[in-house]
This record gives sequence, C-alpha cells and structure tokens, in this order.
Amino acid sequence: MTRQRQVIADVLQKAGEHLDAAEVWRRARQQLPGLHLATVYRSLESLKKLGIIDELDLMHYRGTGHYYEARTNKDHIHFTCQRCGGVLEIQTSLFEKLKAQIEGRHGLAIRVARLELGGVCGSCASTENKTPHATA
Ligand SMILES: [Zn+2]
Ligand SMILES: [Zn+2]
Repeated sequence: MTRQRQVIADVLQKAGEHLDAAEVWRRARQQLPGLHLATVYRSLESLKKLGIIDELDLMHYRGTGHYYEARTNKDHIHFTCQRCGGVLEIQTSLFEKLKAQIEGRHGLAIRVARLELGGVCGSCASTENKTPHATA
C-alpha cells in the first residue's frame, strides 16, 4: 500500500464518523502537506475496491457528495434523518440473517453490503408533534 493510501485509511479509521473527500484531504494533509485532492479521490477509490473503506451517500442530505468510513468486521445499517441530517448507525443480527438468506437462496457470495435508510429521527418526530399547527 502506498504511503498516501495508508495515511488516508488511518484518517478514516481514527475518524469514527463519516467524512467527505474534502475533509479526508484536510486531515491527511497534516501528515502529507503536498497531497492533492485528486490523489485523495484516487486513493479512496482503491481503498474501496480493496474493501478497506465504504462509500455512502447518506441520502444526499448535504448535497451530491459521498462519505467514507472505515469498514468494520460487522456491517451496519445507516439511517439519515432528512430533517436534521443526523446519522444513526444500526447494528442488527437481522442484517446478517438477511445476507445469509440471500446468499443461500441465490447461491452467491456477498462481499459488500450497504443499506441506507432515510426518514425522520425520533427527536425530530417528537418536536414536530409538539409544534402547534397553524391550521385552525
Ligand atoms: Zn432528526
Ligand atoms: Zn457508518
């Protein structure tokens, strides 16, 4: 692995949150001052192909960009609140069961699984209910 890729993988492993390419670039430049954004995109692409990181769109809440995170040994489901932009990560054995069932039924091997959900989070839903409606 090239030094650039290693640094970028480290940035995502330490982040513990979802970063877009510009933020990855900002953090990686602290160790690689001459790093170009184009290199960041290329490295993210190869890390994705190697299965080291995952790419998400988080329902495009903040625009058209993509977000990256280090892969863990357990896949999780992402829920993005389309009101406040909050992201909830859900780990459930049901997701593992679903994948196993699909693999068994169709005789395939799943290497990448991505499930993104969008809607209204619990706290947005409760403030919404408390807000008096103007309609008489
Ligand atoms: Zn919300
Ligand atoms: Zn995540």
